[in-house]
Amino acid sequence: MERKLTIRTWLLLGFIFLLVIFMLALSYRTFALRESKSKALAIAELVRDTLTSYMVMGVIDRRDEFLDRIREIPAVESIRVIRGESVIRQFGPGSLLETPQDDLEKKVLAEGKVVEFLEESIGKATYKVVIPYKAVPTKGINCLNCHQAKEGEVLGAISLTMDITPVRNISLVLLIVLGFIFLLGMIGAGVILKRFFQPYVKLMEQIKYAAQRAKNGDFTYRITTELEDEAKDLADNMNRTFEHLDRMLREIEEKVRAMIGYSVLKTGDVLRDTSQMVDELLKIYKFTRVIEKDKTKQDVYKRLIDIFKEYLSLDKFSFYEVDPKGNCIKPIWVEGMESWCNEVIYNNADECRAKRTGMPVDSREFICVCPNFIDNEACISGSLRYYCIPVYVGGKVGNIFQIVYEPEMEEFIELLIPYIKSYLDESAPVLEARTYMDLLKEQSIIDPLTGLYNRRFLKETINTITAQIKRSGTTLGILAIDVDYFKQVNDTYGHDAGDKVLMEVAKTIKSSIRESDIAVRYGGEEFLVLLIDVQPGSTVHVAEKIRKAMENKVIDIGTAQLKKTVSIGVSEFPVDTDKIWQCIKFADIALYKAKEEGRNRVVRFTADMWTEAEY
Ligand code: GH3
Ligand code: MG
Ligand code: MG
Repeated sequence: MERKLTIRTWLLLGFIFLLVIFMLALSYRTFALRESKSKALAIAELVRDTLTSYMVMGVIDRRDEFLDRIREIPAVESIRVIRGESVIRQFGPGSLLETPQDDLEKKVLAEGKVVEFLEESIGKATYKVVIPYKAVPTKGINCLNCHQAKEGEVLGAISLTMDITPVRNISLVLLIVLGFIFLLGMIGAGVILKRFFQPYVKLMEQIKYAAQRAKNGDFTYRITTELEDEAKDLADNMNRTFEHLDRMLREIEEKVRAMIGYSVLKTGDVLRDTSQMVDELLKIYKFTRVIEKDKTKQDVYKRLIDIFKEYLSLDKFSFYEVDPKGNCIKPIWVEGMESWCNEVIYNNADECRAKRTGMPVDSREFICVCPNFIDNEACISGSLRYYCIPVYVGGKVGNIFQIVYEPEMEEFIELLIPYIKSYLDESAPVLEARTYMDLLKEQSIIDPLTGLYNRRFLKETINTITAQIKRSGTTLGILAIDVDYFKQVNDTYGHDAGDKVLMEVAKTIKSSIRESDIAVRYGGEEFLVLLIDVQPGSTVHVAEKIRKAMENKVIDIGTAQLKKTVSIGVSEFPVDTDKIWQCIKFADIALYKAKEEGRNRVVRFTADMWTEAEY
């Protein structure tokens, strides 16, 4: 900027200098010419008047003497009197010098107008002027008294050549001296101008630089100036504004970092960093708000998985849930592989190092520290790495998040880990609340002795189940099961032994039906089993399977080994009736029949077992 300004100033001053020199040269020329011309005219007039006097006095023959004296006048190089036509006619042609020598002189004789020209070379400047004499009366002398000519006719001319070299030289020296003085003045002015403007230029340059840095979010540059006027106020105000902005933005960034627990990638652009921080905060805030409204743990898990997959672009990871008793681990989601851990961790949660230690597990700390990573070879060779984060839910490790990555992703993953931790931390309290809710819910619908559903669950869900059966046009098999002579166990071996038998019956039922079927402890030693989606008529086969399994089972109650049988009544919905509670009743009627017929048997309900009036 300073250079640009300097160049411009000097260009302007140079232009002014050249202009002044040109003007001076022009005025010198005009001045020199005017001086020479007036001198020449004066000489011409003198010559004419003298010659006229000579003529009147009759001494015209002495004119050459006179002209020789004129020639001695400094600067007069040559002077000639030229005869016009009327003079030649009247007095003859005269000497050779008195005849016109060039076109210029002829032109003056013909036209009667003054002609002049300046001839200049480096060493010499000559001024030639040809002045006509006309037949006009002057100073009381009438030319026409002597000359036989018409009035106004050109009688002759004076051709005068003057050497104006000295005048020119003096002017030139003057011009050079003036030019030099002017040049000095210009340089002086330039230097003074530069001195004066330099601090302003410097200030402007600093303001420009500061503004550029501010545009990139850097407010750390401070403007300095030795100026004392308003320019200093401007610099001070800008500095204060930048300082304030810088401090405020950093404070915001600090606070946001304290809130989200990590710092986003620092670009050096405070504005962008802060804005990114606030964006992150907003994202986490929204995430927390949303999961707080999620009804189930599964909804929260789904959102977390979405964040990991979509927002953080992770392509290899697994997310586990530790069961509330802490024995088993269940994969919630595995990305990029069927499983990133050996199966052994599923049934023995402590095989998972992150679960057991409650600390993050980093494969880089000790090479492949966890033996249960699925591909230890890849880990040892360095082509795969892992990082497992335990998530504390209700004071215990409730979940484990495992990231698997290639070495070239290391930097990116390191950057992501705080983000991941922060999302996991935000989820933990919600997961804890949902876990307790699930537990409470489970406790209210699960029979604590047998682990089967209770009657309350049946009441709550039966409508949903039957609606589904009706919609899909399938059949629901119903089994009413009662232990034969159960009272005897209680009476003979005590209540605890009775409980043990009930547990065994429940186990037998569970292992004989499908995962999707529902087993309910309906009363003291009565069970109800709902077989979802059975072939009509096949319910009895499942009942028979249970009955046989019980028949063959030996129950160890500690003090003795018992064998117990069950009786089972069977009905099918909506085959027997499309009223579910009635259908359950039918199974109960069939059970009663089985008891009647001698126990340890399965009885399929038939319409003849039931008359409406009876019930
Ligand atoms: P059967 O069904 O073959 O006619 O004979 P039963 O001896 O099983 O007769 P019943 O069904 O009338 O007997 C039910 C007994 O089960 C009564 C009660 O003492 C006992 N019982 C009910 N609930 C429990 C329980 O939770 N634990 C134990 N130990 N006994 C229970
Ligand atoms: Mg009973
Ligand atoms: Mg019984």
